[in-house]
Amino acid sequence: MKNQGYYSQFGGAYIPEILASTFDELETAYIEARDDPAFWQEYLDLMSTYSCRATPITRLDNLSEQLGGASIYVKREDLNHTGAHKVNNVMGQGLLTKRMGKTRVIAETGAGQHGVATATMAAKFGFDCTIYMGAHDVARQRPNVFWMEQMGATVVAVTEGSQTLKDAINEAFRDWVTNMDDTHYALGTACGPHPFPEMVSWFQSIIGTEARQQMLDRTGVLPHRVYACVGGGSNAMGLFSGFMDDKEVELVGVEAGGRGRGSGEHAARLAYDDATIGVAQGYKTYFLQDRDGQMQDTHSVSAGLDYVGVSPILSHLHETKRVRFEAATDDDVVAAMQRTVRCEGLIPALESSHAFAQAYLEAPQMSPEENILINMSGRADKDIFTVADAIADPKWRDFIIQKAAAYQMENLNG
Ligand SMILES: *Cc1c(COP(=O)(O)O)cnc(C)c1O
Repeated sequence: MKNQGYYSQFGGAYIPEILASTFDELETAYIEARDDPAFWQEYLDLMSTYSCRATPITRLDNLSEQLGGASIYVKREDLNHTGAHKVNNVMGQGLLTKRMGKTRVIAETGAGQHGVATATMAAKFGFDCTIYMGAHDVARQRPNVFWMEQMGATVVAVTEGSQTLKDAINEAFRDWVTNMDDTHYALGTACGPHPFPEMVSWFQSIIGTEARQQMLDRTGVLPHRVYACVGGGSNAMGLFSGFMDDKEVELVGVEAGGRGRGSGEHAARLAYDDATIGVAQGYKTYFLQDRDGQMQDTHSVSAGLDYVGVSPILSHLHETKRVRFEAATDDDVVAAMQRTVRCEGLIPALESSHAFAQAYLEAPQMSPEENILINMSGRADKDIFTVADAIADPKWRDFIIQKAAAYQMENLNG
């Protein structure tokens, strides 16, 4: 085990001996790339021609007035290709894969968003691609699986354990151990063994670097508070890193409060008190686990925040109180999303809507001279099934029933 990659007691690289040389190779490639200005320039060129960077900031004129407090700005990561910030990390790792001379990428995915982003990167770079996904998630997330397969990825439905994300991660590591010579594991968030938390945060720092300058250009001052939702922690690390050294800027991470504090049905590792420190999936952080270290079932209306662990860097920033952690409940999140759609015509993903919900709660207590910035980590096209169900839209229900009936008809006739 190596000594680097610790953020106070959190992080590390708890990996099987057989992967040690692969992690060394990755870390060396990452450090060389980080120290090579031409690499970051290549990354910027790629992101500006393939994924609409720099993404703009948008002022919420109507809601700022309606809420009567702080002036609200939004960083538009929803405008990225594939609809979220995930592509920032994935494209960076694609360039690194090329640099290491590897020809195949693998990834884990829960809801499928990271799988789609990785399959996109593989298609663009001409890599072979295998995506590991719990069988349960494959069944739930057909639209994402459809696009991954169209892009040429092999989607493996993992039937071990609970057939969800953590089982997919285990399978991806198993693949890597067998195929490390030609394969890179493109891990999807700021978690896992070192150097992933740091490397993923570095690629995502493009969000914060842009946003800080954009706020200065637009308002002449830094925002008072900055909000981001926290699943594994990559979009939050990306935005926060732009303001980390600005002590006057308060950083707020918003986790999935699910059915609320004390319900046992949430994914709030830092905002509530249910998580404890442990080692799993190759790193040390706060996990939602029982006393024997068994991972608990988590719940959130948003699949992307529904995870037992959290970035070790964020656990550290929680303990040092640089970042304040809050949680938004499912009900508040759906309401915040509907409000944003109705009042501003923006459609934030359910994940991102956690950050909006907390910001809407706090903005009225602030003065109109104060600015806040919310990271809109993604858009909600992918959430249409969940949201339409959550608000019980009758016309959507009729549409699904008719669609199903048409298929049944076809089956009878064919
Ligand atoms: C995956 C996802 C998240 C959660 O991941 P982080 O690593 O915590 O950023 C948040 N928002 C959107 C839109 C996502 O797709």
